[in-house]
Amino acid sequence: MSTETQLLLLTRAGYEGDCAAQVQAVAAEAGVHGFCKAKPDTGYLAFSAHDPHALAAWFETLSLDELIFARQVNLAGEPLADLPPDNRLGPILAALEGQPFGGVYVETPDAEATRPLMRLARQFTRPLEQSMRKRGLLEPGNPDLPRLHLTFIDSTTAIPGWSHPAQAAPWPMGIPRLKMARDAPSRSALKLEEALITFLSPDERRKLLRDGLEAVDLGAAPGGWTWQLVRDGLMVTAVDNGPMAESLAASHQVEHRREDGFTFRPERPVEWLVCDMVEKPIRVAALMADWLARGDCRRTIFNLKLPMKKRQQAVTECRELIEDRLVEAEVPFEMAIRQLYHDRDEVTAYLRRLS
Ligand code: SAM
Repeated sequence: MSTETQLLLLTRAGYEGDCAAQVQAVAAEAGVHGFCKAKPDTGYLAFSAHDPHALAAWFETLSLDELIFARQVNLAGEPLADLPPDNRLGPILAALEGQPFGGVYVETPDAEATRPLMRLARQFTRPLEQSMRKRGLLEPGNPDLPRLHLTFIDSTTAIPGWSHPAQAAPWPMGIPRLKMARDAPSRSALKLEEALITFLSPDERRKLLRDGLEAVDLGAAPGGWTWQLVRDGLMVTAVDNGPMAESLAASHQVEHRREDGFTFRPERPVEWLVCDMVEKPIRVAALMADWLARGDCRRTIFNLKLPMKKRQQAVTECRELIEDRLVEAEVPFEMAIRQLYHDRDEVTAYLRRLS
């Protein structure tokens, strides 16, 4: 593979600028300075560092968890252009010669112009894997080998890159294929499901979402998030002036309280607080910090609805407010914020007490 010179990032179409600003800030904190090339609504961007060695060293330590608006990340080389449509494999295999991989993701940005390429990416994966295996370039599942990312940006141009297996999203393009259950009251259920599989390991999920634990759901109606928690066995207090889906209203695991989510407090501490209220993000951030600081919950997953402009700045302000309040209250905590695939103009955060 040619020398890697840039970070290639996939993002939600329309968020290229926010993703660029955030990546540059994270890189600068690590002492890596550079610039982004991004075009609006393309769903991807590239970050180049002034010092490519510094970029490669930083990438070794980088995790997707640090990149709020990136769905996928890899360290990429030069684009392979003018791939003949009747033999794209030939030049791609030639470029990969000599570097074995432990897995392959064929990807494409999730944007209007490149959406037709999703089919090509799916259909190309198997033949590429087979050809790589024949040439000794693929040892599936070997955790010591990098994963190949081949990102088609048009039908004749692909950018080769790589990531460590635990570093990038565990799904091609950062898109988890979640199925909407028939009895889920709203599509929002998928948002919480994606948050749970993103922020918790399977083992944590088994331990932290189970019978006997309690949760509060602020802005719960019609009940997609409550439904997820009920399915995992929790008892849920669903706070919303709006009506809950009939199946949940009748459930012995759900208590519906028609109250204001900003003033409601539980009688005793609960394990989980989830919050999907459509409100100013800074108000929600302050509320979440307050619940954690007072010990009303141990952990919270919440959505921050973003303004039309300066979205990266809005998220930074929310993060700083939470950090300041919890440091002041001397509560040790951990926080991760990501724009998930099922998020629209919003991001999802996981905040938990460490004591
Ligand atoms: N998570 C829900 C689900 O899975 O079905 C969807 C929530 S919906 C996006 C936002 C909800 O927040 C609305 O039902 C709205 O009534 C509620 N909401 C907004 N402000 C609120 C407040 N101050 N107190 C309680 N609920 C509020």
